[in-house]
Amino acid sequence: MAFQDKTLTCKDCGKEFVWTASEQEFYASKGFQNAPVRCPEDRAAKRARMDEGGRGPRQMFEITCSNCGKKDMVPFQPRGDRPVLCSDCFRKQREGGLSETRADAPKNEEAPVEEESSPKASEEAPQEPEAEAPVAE
Ligand SMILES: [Zn+2]
Ligand SMILES: [Zn+2]
Repeated sequence: MAFQDKTLTCKDCGKEFVWTASEQEFYASKGFQNAPVRCPEDRAAKRARMDEGGRGPRQMFEITCSNCGKKDMVPFQPRGDRPVLCSDCFRKQREGGLSETRADAPKNEEAPVEEESSPKASEEAPQEPEAEAPVAE
């Protein structure tokens, strides 16, 4: 069976394209009865669209926001060793509302220095009876 190149008109863009002999052979080997109705470009584009549509909704993963603790869904597999943010916190962080160094660089809090005078000292101090003061009721 000899195939010859055929010129067809694309159904989508109206452009003429060549249905090559080898392609016709390929079609015949697959048992396709009909000639292609689209040019190769449109066929590729259509396949790409179908691939996208066929995948369905993106898989979502439930996360617990490491900033506010809220549960949320994210379209990627969260990594256990990375903080993951809910959409609110993510947006805030992108807008600069959250400090990224917050957790890594804790501020040097001024630790209250214990004063030398311990409470014990005053406990041992003899309680001087206060001058009797009439308690006004
Ligand atoms: Zn076309
Ligand atoms: Zn959050």
